Amino acid sequence: ARVILQLEKQIGADNLAAVIIEPIQGEGGFIVPADGFLPAIVDWCRENGVVFIADEVQTGFARTGHMFASEIFGIEPDLITTAKGIAGGLPLAAVTGRAEIMDASHSGGLGGTYGGNPIACAAALASIDVFENDGVIERAREIGAILTERLTSIQQSDPRVGDVRGHGAMIAAEFVDPESKAPDAALTAAVAKACIAQGVVVLTCGTYGNVIRFLPPLSIGDDLLNEGLDIVAAALAAA
Ligand SMILES: *Cc1c(COP(=O)(O)O)cnc(C)c1O
Repeated sequence: ARVILQLEKQIGADNLAAVIIEPIQGEGGFIVPADGFLPAIVDWCRENGVVFIADEVQTGFARTGHMFASEIFGIEPDLITTAKGIAGGLPLAAVTGRAEIMDASHSGGLGGTYGGNPIACAAALASIDVFENDGVIERAREIGAILTERLTSIQQSDPRVGDVRGHGAMIAAEFVDPESKAPDAALTAAVAKACIAQGVVVLTCGTYGNVIRFLPPLSIGDDLLNEGLDIVAAALAAA
């Protein structure tokens, strides 16, 4: 209700072409929206003739244990943006959407220097084939179960670990002051630095810089994943 009030009072539906939102915030700290949040915004957009765009660059392509995170929330965006996982590491990004929107651009009106690069497109087709036939979505869920199990078990014995959250192979852990629960960015940076020194590249995120996000490749094996998590656990214990 607060977001819709802001849209109506600060911008006005008449002035608004589109709402673009990450179904689960990435850089913002892996914030999973409350139940009903996204459907209410989609409904409001539909009622007001505003295009609803889901930025699935980080959440898309099986990352969350669904082909797209929008599925988790039962929403159907008008447009989605995708990149990162779509071409197995080759540089490619895409906008996919309703025909009446996509076809509205004039011939040559949607493009870029590298748009439609044939090698990257071939890699994307091969990736899609793997996603459809090699159980990648299921694997993302298994990775998520391991990450959640290991991180919540660390959380139970270490009060410096705050919230553990996310979906599928997109899981984050917050680091906080054990007493006040205030975000502890210094601890987070120290853990990340110690991990990198041991060869495990972790990324921090979140408004307060106190979140470590886990986005392992969906092709990672259990052994390597657990070895990486062992290093994270040791880095935290030593910090
Ligand atoms: C990485 C990222 C982008 C940027 O995508 P580019 O294809 O590099 O422009 C946009 N949105 C989200 C959520 C991202 O994670």
